[in-house]
Amino acid sequence: MGPPGSGKGTQASGIAKKLNVESVSTGDLFRSHQTRQTELGILAATYMERGEYVPDAVAIKIIMDWVVHPKRSKGFVLDGFPRTKTQAETLDKELCRYGGVDRVLLIDAPEVELVRRLTGRLSCKDCQATYHVDHNLSSNNRKCEKCEGRLYRRSDDNSIVAKKRIQLYRKETSSVVEHYREIGKLKEINGAEPMDTVAKNLLEAVE
Ligand code: ADP
Ligand code: ADP
Ligand code: ZN
Repeated sequence: MGPPGSGKGTQASGIAKKLNVESVSTGDLFRSHQTRQTELGILAATYMERGEYVPDAVAIKIIMDWVVHPKRSKGFVLDGFPRTKTQAETLDKELCRYGGVDRVLLIDAPEVELVRRLTGRLSCKDCQATYHVDHNLSSNNRKCEKCEGRLYRRSDDNSIVAKKRIQLYRKETSSVVEHYREIGKLKEINGAEPMDTVAKNLLEAVE
Protein backbone atom coordinates (compact mmCIF):
# COMPACT_ATOMS: atom_id res chain seq x y z
CA MET A 1 0.00 0.00 0.00
CA GLY A 2 1.00 3.61 -0.41
CA PRO A 3 -0.18 6.83 -2.05
CA PRO A 4 -0.01 7.29 -5.82
CA GLY A 5 3.64 7.78 -6.80
CA SER A 6 5.11 6.14 -3.71
CA GLY A 7 6.66 3.36 -5.82
CA LYS A 8 4.20 0.48 -5.43
CA GLY A 9 4.38 -0.63 -9.07
CA THR A 10 8.16 -0.24 -9.21
CA GLN A 11 8.61 -2.39 -6.11
CA ALA A 12 5.78 -4.95 -6.43
CA SER A 13 7.20 -6.66 -9.50
CA GLY A 14 10.66 -6.86 -7.90
CA ILE A 15 9.37 -8.40 -4.67
CA ALA A 16 7.23 -10.90 -6.59
CA LYS A 17 10.23 -11.97 -8.68
CA LYS A 18 12.36 -12.49 -5.56
CA LEU A 19 9.59 -14.54 -3.93
CA ASN A 20 8.91 -16.44 -7.16
CA VAL A 21 5.24 -15.48 -7.25
CA GLU A 22 3.18 -13.14 -9.44
CA SER A 23 2.11 -9.58 -8.72
CA VAL A 24 -0.88 -7.64 -9.96
CA SER A 25 -1.83 -3.97 -10.01
CA THR A 26 -5.53 -3.16 -9.94
CA GLY A 27 -4.84 -0.06 -12.02
CA ASP A 28 -3.00 -2.13 -14.67
CA LEU A 29 -5.91 -4.58 -14.86
CA PHE A 30 -8.33 -1.70 -15.44
CA ARG A 31 -6.03 -0.11 -18.05
CA SER A 32 -5.76 -3.40 -19.90
CA HIS A 33 -9.57 -3.55 -20.09
CA GLN A 34 -9.54 0.07 -21.27
CA THR A 35 -7.12 -0.73 -24.11
CA ARG A 36 -9.38 -3.59 -25.19
CA GLN A 37 -12.40 -1.27 -24.85
CA THR A 38 -14.35 -3.82 -22.81
CA GLU A 39 -17.49 -2.72 -21.00
CA LEU A 40 -15.59 -2.85 -17.71
CA GLY A 41 -12.73 -0.81 -19.16
CA ILE A 42 -15.06 1.90 -20.43
CA LEU A 43 -16.79 2.08 -17.04
CA ALA A 44 -13.51 2.17 -15.07
CA ALA A 45 -12.08 4.92 -17.30
CA THR A 46 -14.78 7.40 -16.29
CA TYR A 47 -13.64 7.13 -12.65
CA MET A 48 -9.90 6.87 -13.31
CA GLU A 49 -9.79 10.01 -15.46
CA ARG A 50 -11.31 11.99 -12.59
CA GLY A 51 -8.96 10.48 -10.01
CA GLU A 52 -11.81 8.71 -8.20
CA TYR A 53 -11.95 5.10 -7.09
CA VAL A 54 -13.74 2.62 -9.29
CA PRO A 55 -16.78 1.22 -7.38
CA ASP A 56 -15.90 -1.47 -4.84
CA ALA A 57 -17.93 -4.24 -6.50
CA VAL A 58 -15.98 -3.79 -9.75
CA ALA A 59 -12.53 -3.58 -8.09
CA ILE A 60 -13.28 -6.59 -5.87
CA LYS A 61 -14.46 -8.74 -8.76
CA ILE A 62 -11.47 -8.00 -10.97
CA ILE A 63 -8.96 -8.78 -8.19
CA MET A 64 -10.73 -11.87 -6.85
CA ASP A 65 -10.99 -13.34 -10.37
CA TRP A 66 -7.22 -12.89 -10.65
CA VAL A 67 -6.47 -14.32 -7.19
CA VAL A 68 -8.63 -17.44 -7.57
CA HIS A 69 -6.40 -19.18 -10.11
CA PRO A 70 -4.23 -22.30 -9.64
CA LYS A 71 -1.16 -20.26 -10.67
CA ARG A 72 -1.58 -18.12 -7.52
CA SER A 73 -1.90 -20.97 -5.05
CA LYS A 74 1.70 -20.40 -3.83
CA GLY A 75 0.90 -16.80 -2.99
CA PHE A 76 0.93 -13.42 -4.71
CA VAL A 77 1.68 -9.73 -4.34
CA LEU A 78 -1.17 -7.20 -4.61
CA ASP A 79 -0.37 -3.64 -5.68
CA GLY A 80 -3.04 -1.02 -5.08
CA PHE A 81 -5.60 -3.30 -3.45
CA PRO A 82 -7.34 -2.95 -1.01
CA ARG A 83 -7.95 0.81 -1.00
CA THR A 84 -11.29 0.95 0.85
CA LYS A 85 -12.69 -0.58 4.02
CA THR A 86 -15.09 -2.80 2.06
CA GLN A 87 -12.26 -4.09 -0.16
CA ALA A 88 -10.14 -4.91 2.90
CA GLU A 89 -13.02 -6.70 4.62
CA THR A 90 -13.68 -8.79 1.50
CA LEU A 91 -10.00 -9.66 1.07
CA ASP A 92 -9.59 -10.61 4.74
CA LYS A 93 -12.69 -12.80 4.51
CA GLU A 94 -11.60 -14.52 1.29
CA LEU A 95 -8.14 -15.25 2.71
CA CYS A 96 -9.24 -16.13 6.24
CA ARG A 97 -8.67 -19.87 5.82
CA TYR A 98 -5.03 -19.04 4.93
CA GLY A 99 -4.68 -16.81 8.00
CA GLY A 100 -5.36 -13.62 6.01
CA VAL A 101 -2.70 -11.60 4.23
CA ASP A 102 0.84 -12.35 5.45
CA ARG A 103 2.15 -8.79 5.33
CA VAL A 104 0.98 -5.34 4.43
CA LEU A 105 3.87 -3.25 3.19
CA LEU A 106 3.37 0.50 3.37
CA ILE A 107 5.56 2.91 1.42
CA ASP A 108 5.11 6.66 1.61
CA ALA A 109 6.92 9.85 0.61
CA PRO A 110 6.31 13.61 1.03
CA GLU A 111 3.58 15.07 -1.19
CA VAL A 112 5.92 17.28 -3.30
CA GLU A 113 7.95 14.19 -4.16
CA LEU A 114 4.81 12.17 -5.01
CA VAL A 115 3.61 14.91 -7.37
CA ARG A 116 7.08 15.21 -8.95
CA ARG A 117 7.14 11.46 -9.57
CA LEU A 118 3.60 11.23 -10.96
CA THR A 119 3.84 14.22 -13.29
CA GLY A 120 7.14 12.88 -14.70
CA ARG A 121 6.11 9.24 -14.90
CA LEU A 122 6.27 7.42 -18.21
CA SER A 123 4.57 4.03 -18.47
CA CYS A 124 5.16 1.22 -20.95
CA LYS A 125 2.09 0.43 -23.04
CA ASP A 126 3.08 -3.24 -23.33
CA CYS A 127 4.58 -4.37 -19.99
CA GLN A 128 3.46 -1.55 -17.63
CA ALA A 129 7.02 -0.86 -16.43
CA THR A 130 7.42 2.74 -15.27
CA TYR A 131 10.16 5.29 -15.83
CA HIS A 132 10.68 8.93 -14.98
CA VAL A 133 11.57 11.72 -17.40
CA ASP A 134 14.32 12.94 -15.03
CA HIS A 135 16.00 9.59 -14.55
CA ASN A 136 16.07 6.22 -16.19
CA LEU A 137 16.01 7.42 -19.80
CA SER A 138 18.28 9.29 -22.12
CA SER A 139 16.33 11.95 -24.01
CA ASN A 140 16.41 10.03 -27.31
CA ASN A 141 15.35 6.76 -25.73
CA ARG A 142 11.59 6.79 -25.39
CA LYS A 143 11.22 3.03 -25.59
CA CYS A 144 10.85 0.59 -22.73
CA GLU A 145 14.21 -0.89 -21.72
CA LYS A 146 12.56 -4.18 -20.80
CA CYS A 147 10.39 -4.88 -23.86
CA GLU A 148 10.97 -2.03 -26.35
CA GLY A 149 7.30 -1.06 -25.89
CA ARG A 150 6.04 2.47 -26.43
CA LEU A 151 6.22 4.79 -23.43
CA TYR A 152 3.32 7.11 -22.72
CA ARG A 153 2.12 9.53 -20.07
CA ARG A 154 -1.02 8.36 -18.27
CA SER A 155 -3.91 10.81 -18.68
CA ASP A 156 -4.40 10.85 -14.88
CA ASP A 157 -0.74 11.78 -14.26
CA ASN A 158 -1.28 15.53 -14.61
CA SER A 159 -0.78 17.70 -11.51
CA ILE A 160 -4.50 18.40 -10.86
CA VAL A 161 -5.68 14.77 -10.96
CA ALA A 162 -2.47 13.54 -9.27
CA LYS A 163 -3.08 15.84 -6.27
CA LYS A 164 -6.71 14.74 -6.13
CA ARG A 165 -5.65 11.07 -6.08
CA ILE A 166 -3.18 11.71 -3.25
CA GLN A 167 -5.92 13.48 -1.25
CA LEU A 168 -8.35 10.63 -1.83
CA TYR A 169 -5.73 8.17 -0.61
CA ARG A 170 -5.20 10.18 2.61
CA LYS A 171 -8.97 10.45 3.17
CA GLU A 172 -10.13 6.97 2.24
CA THR A 173 -7.22 4.52 2.30
CA SER A 174 -5.42 5.69 5.46
CA SER A 175 -8.09 4.01 7.60
CA VAL A 176 -7.40 0.71 5.81
CA VAL A 177 -3.70 1.13 6.67
CA GLU A 178 -4.68 1.67 10.31
CA HIS A 179 -6.75 -1.53 10.27
CA TYR A 180 -3.68 -3.57 9.23
CA ARG A 181 -1.54 -1.75 11.80
CA GLU A 182 -4.02 -2.72 14.54
CA ILE A 183 -3.94 -6.40 13.60
CA GLY A 184 -0.13 -6.36 13.56
CA LYS A 185 0.41 -7.02 9.84
CA LEU A 186 1.77 -3.63 8.81
CA LYS A 187 5.42 -2.90 7.98
CA GLU A 188 6.33 0.67 7.10
CA ILE A 189 9.16 1.51 4.74
CA ASN A 190 10.38 4.98 3.82
CA GLY A 191 9.53 5.35 0.12
CA ALA A 192 11.47 8.61 -0.24
CA GLU A 193 14.78 6.71 -0.30
CA PRO A 194 16.42 5.55 -3.53
CA MET A 195 14.70 2.63 -5.31
CA ASP A 196 17.41 0.09 -4.40
CA THR A 197 17.24 0.98 -0.71
CA VAL A 198 13.44 0.75 -0.71
CA ALA A 199 13.66 -2.64 -2.45
CA LYS A 200 16.14 -3.96 0.12
CA ASN A 201 14.07 -2.73 3.08
CA LEU A 202 10.85 -4.17 1.66
CA LEU A 203 12.40 -7.57 1.12
CA GLU A 204 13.74 -7.61 4.68
CA ALA A 205 10.24 -6.77 5.91
CA VAL A 206 8.72 -9.71 4.02
CA GLU A 207 11.35 -12.20 5.02
P1 ADP B 1 2.90 3.92 -7.78
O1 ADP B 1 2.67 2.56 -8.41
O2 ADP B 1 2.94 3.84 -6.29
O3 ADP B 1 1.92 4.96 -8.24
P2 ADP B 1 5.37 3.94 -9.37
O4 ADP B 1 6.07 2.71 -8.95
O5 ADP B 1 4.72 3.93 -10.71
O6 ADP B 1 4.33 4.42 -8.23
O7 ADP B 1 6.42 5.15 -9.31
C1 ADP B 1 6.03 6.48 -9.65
C2 ADP B 1 7.17 7.20 -10.35
O8 ADP B 1 8.23 7.43 -9.42
C3 ADP B 1 7.81 6.44 -11.52
O9 ADP B 1 8.17 7.36 -12.50
C4 ADP B 1 9.04 5.78 -10.90
O10 ADP B 1 10.06 5.61 -11.85
C5 ADP B 1 9.44 6.78 -9.82
N1 ADP B 1 9.98 6.18 -8.58
C6 ADP B 1 9.56 5.04 -7.96
N2 ADP B 1 10.26 4.80 -6.84
C7 ADP B 1 11.16 5.82 -6.73
C8 ADP B 1 12.19 6.15 -5.78
N3 ADP B 1 12.42 5.40 -4.70
N4 ADP B 1 12.92 7.27 -6.00
C9 ADP B 1 12.68 8.06 -7.09
N5 ADP B 1 11.73 7.80 -8.02
C10 ADP B 1 10.98 6.70 -7.86
P1 ADP C 1 -1.66 4.98 -8.56
O1 ADP C 1 -1.38 4.15 -7.37
O2 ADP C 1 -0.44 5.53 -9.20
O3 ADP C 1 -2.73 6.00 -8.29
P2 ADP C 1 -3.00 2.85 -10.07
O4 ADP C 1 -2.59 2.51 -11.44
O5 ADP C 1 -2.77 1.89 -8.99
O6 ADP C 1 -2.30 4.22 -9.78
O7 ADP C 1 -4.55 3.27 -10.06
C1 ADP C 1 -5.10 4.08 -11.07
C2 ADP C 1 -6.58 4.28 -10.84
O8 ADP C 1 -7.25 3.02 -10.88
C3 ADP C 1 -6.97 4.87 -9.49
O9 ADP C 1 -6.90 6.28 -9.49
C4 ADP C 1 -8.42 4.37 -9.38
O10 ADP C 1 -9.29 5.11 -10.20
C5 ADP C 1 -8.31 2.97 -9.96
N1 ADP C 1 -8.01 1.98 -8.92
C6 ADP C 1 -6.83 1.33 -8.71
N2 ADP C 1 -6.92 0.50 -7.65
C7 ADP C 1 -8.20 0.60 -7.18
C8 ADP C 1 -8.92 0.00 -6.11
N3 ADP C 1 -8.34 -0.90 -5.30
N4 ADP C 1 -10.21 0.38 -5.93
C9 ADP C 1 -10.81 1.27 -6.74
N5 ADP C 1 -10.19 1.88 -7.76
C10 ADP C 1 -8.89 1.56 -7.99
ZN1 ZN D 1 7.82 -2.58 -21.47
